[in-house]
Amino acid sequence: MQQLKGLIQEAATLASPAPETEAARMLQICNACRYCEGFCAVFPAMTRRVDFNPVDMRYLANLCHNCGACLHACQYAPPHEFGVNIPRVMAQVRGETYVAYA
Ligand code: SF4
Ligand code: SF4
Repeated sequence: MQQLKGLIQEAATLASPAPETEAARMLQICNACRYCEGFCAVFPAMTRRVDFNPVDMRYLANLCHNCGACLHACQYAPPHEFGVNIPRVMAQVRGETYVAYA
C-alpha cells in the first residue's frame, strides 16, 4: 500500500512539475529561439545561462513584470505542443518567492 502511494505521488509530480522545473523547460526552448531577446531584462539574463537551477529561476522570475509581450509574440505558445507561456510560469515562480521571502 505504501509503495502504491509512493507511485501515485510520483505520477502526480510528473503530471504537474514544479513551477521552477516547468520554467526551466520553457527557458531551454527560449534560449534556442531568442526571438524575444530585446523585450525585457529576462531574456538577456537568460542568454548568460546554459542551464536553469531553482535559484536562477527565482532571479529570472523577479525580472519579469508580466507585460505579456513574449506570450503574444511566441510561435511556441499553446496550442503548440511546446506550450511556452513565460508570463504564466514566471508569475507562478514569483508567487512562490513572495510566500518564501516577503
Ligand atoms: S517566448 Fe517564444 S518566441 Fe520568445 S524567445 Fe521564448 S520561445 Fe522564442
Ligand atoms: S512577460 Fe515577462 S518575460 Fe515576457 S516580455 Fe514581459 S517582462 Fe519579459
